[in-house]
Formats: sequence, C-alpha cells, structure tokens
Amino acid sequence: MMKTNKLVMIPGPTPVVRSIQDQMARETVAFGDAAFVKDFSEVVVDLKAMWRCDGETFVVAGSGTMGMEMALANITKRGDSILICSNGYFGDRFIDMCERKGLVVEVLSAEWGSSVTPEMVEKALSSKSFSAVTVTHVETSTGVEAPIAAIGEVMKKHPEALYIVDGVAASGGAEQYMDTMGIDALLTCSQKAFGVAPGLTMLWASRRAMERRAALGAIPESYVDFDKWLPVMHDPSKYWGTPAINLVWALKESIRIMKEEGLAERYARHERIAAAVASAMEAIGFKVAAERPFRASTLSVFFYPEGSGIEDAKFREILAEEGAQTAGCLGAFAGRGFRMGHMGNIDKHTLVSAVAAIERACVKCGHKIELGRAVGVLQEALVKE
Ligand code: PMP
Repeated sequence: MMKTNKLVMIPGPTPVVRSIQDQMARETVAFGDAAFVKDFSEVVVDLKAMWRCDGETFVVAGSGTMGMEMALANITKRGDSILICSNGYFGDRFIDMCERKGLVVEVLSAEWGSSVTPEMVEKALSSKSFSAVTVTHVETSTGVEAPIAAIGEVMKKHPEALYIVDGVAASGGAEQYMDTMGIDALLTCSQKAFGVAPGLTMLWASRRAMERRAALGAIPESYVDFDKWLPVMHDPSKYWGTPAINLVWALKESIRIMKEEGLAERYARHERIAAAVASAMEAIGFKVAAERPFRASTLSVFFYPEGSGIEDAKFREILAEEGAQTAGCLGAFAGRGFRMGHMGNIDKHTLVSAVAAIERACVKCGHKIELGRAVGVLQEALVKE
C-alpha cells in the first residue's frame, strides 16, 4: 500500500490552506517595499478593529511563548504581585516565566479537565492587590476553555489588576473581544486558529495596558518592548527588527478568510464542529477529557475507551500511518489519550478523513468498533453545515 498523506491534526500547527501557502511562497521583498508596508499596515489595522481593541496591536516575529513574555514585560515589573490562573501545562508556563522576572507569584490551579472559576478569581483579588492576572483561554494540555468573559467581569471590579489572556489556542476560533471582556493584553500566534505556519506573535494591548507600559519607564527587555515596536506598527516602513515578510502576507490572507466567513460565524462554526467531533468520538467509546461547561471549541483531548487495551504510543503511531498526526497528552493526562486540533480553516474533507483514520487505527489496535460508526455521526452533523 502506498503511504497515506498525513493530516496535521495536532493542536497547532493546523492545516494551512492553499491560498495562505501561496502567500508564504511569494518572492520575498525588502521590508521597506511600499506594497508590503501597505499590506503590513492593513494587517495591524484589521486585527485591532476585529478584536475591538482601544489600544495598540502588535505583530512581531516569534512564537506564542514570546507573546506571553511580551505581555509580562510591558505590564509588570520586578517585585509586582501576579495571579496566575492555571488549568494545566500552558497555564503553568507563566509560573516560571514570572518567577524569573522577579514577580511575586500566586497560583490558582484547577484540576486537570476543569477550570479556574470567576468565583476563585474574585476571592483572590478581594484578599490581596495584584498588578496583573493571567488566564489561558484554551488550555492545550486539557482541552479546557476558561470562562474569560465571566472572569473579565470580576476583573472590572479590580481595576488595579490588568487582565492578561493567553489566546494561543483560541484566537480566531473562540470568541474574544477586548472591550466587552475587559482584556488588557491578549496574545496569540499564527499557527493555531489563524491557520498560518508558525512564526508570528500577535498581541493586542488595551489603552490601560499602554498606560501601564508608559508608567514603567525603561524596561529591561528590548526585542519585546512595546515602545520599540509601536513606531513600526504605526508605520511599517520604520525598522526595529526585520518583519517576517512572507508570514505577514500569509496572515493578511488568513484575515481575509476570517472576514469573508465573519468572526461571529467562525466562532459558531468552531462550536458546532467541536460538538460534532466529540459526538463522533463518543460513538466509538472515547471520552472527552474536559468537563462539559469548559469544553474548548478549538481542540479536544480524547481519552481511550476503557477496557479497549489501546496502547497510547502505538495507537498514535498507527493513526499517523493511517493519515492523521495527533499529539500525545501531557502531565496528568499522559498516556491516557490523545490531543486533536479542530480549529482554523479546517474543512469537511479533513474532518471526515481524520475521523476515518481514527476508526482504522482503532481496529488495527484491536479496539473492536463498527467501521463508519464515528464517521456516520460526524456526517450527520456535517450535512447540516
Ligand atoms: N499557550 C498555549 C495555550 C499553547 O497552546 C502554546 C503552544 N501549544 C503556547 C502558549 C506556546 O506557544 P508556542 O509553542 O508557539 O511558543
């Protein structure tokens, strides 16, 4: 049998559609090129408007982790207290980062599969003053979506604390609005629900966040300093660090696709697809790891069916051979299931093929299922799309 093409079903990078790939394949121009400068400007203006940001928007070469550091660098200073709301591996990533920066760290942790709640945040903020709070919108290790709007309501009652949201596994797939949700710094990157290759960090900073940056004066960090990038974001013919030209073009195409679909419909589609994929997987005995009110629309962690005898590493290896590359679980969930992305510009072909590959991998691993069962459930949902 010839090799089957591997679909990238990990929770990012996600499948990159042809029109976005084409932008990455263009001949690279000088960063001062007038047409590129115009394109870059439009990207920044569009992102700012679409996420309803009253401050500034930054597009900088880097990954999601850099976005996390950029938010902290421009909002907090050594000695500040910070509250980290962690629902798993990526929430925890803020802990070391903040400690290295000399922040006084307090952590609210949820059980894996659950989320820190607005009540927990309220209690913490009422007992002590914090200069910032971090929340991971979609925790990629558990498939949990934090209630960022409800936490935002709590934050509004404690204006001394700025609200930092890690939107890496959510932005462009799950609803986020800077204004109504009261977010001060939202960071994300290109390779998840934007459906672009890895390499760009996007960060929205509210007017309040920009005021906090101004109040900090000179900061130790250089590459991620808002002050260094602001002139470039206002006029991309200016220079601070060389922009990732082809990725900026790719992002522009990604934004065009988002505008064509409409953000509200895009968010709703993600909800429908997540529910459809979960039903399909449940039909063949898998369990969604995230508790129901907190299930993410962009990615899922699926636990292997009890008593199936499926061996994790072997299953994912066979699944990859069958045509779907998924990711192993992390931390407390390691070995119990796999992580699968269903976000961005993912289409019906890809979803059906991925679930079909999962069915074949089940059978090949000795988990007796009726072939077509999960695909059938998925098809019932997709036919309504
Ligand atoms: N936050 C979350 C929620 C993530 O899922 C990831 C990456 N999977 C990161 C941060 C780090 O992003 P990157 O790997 O692009 O640095």
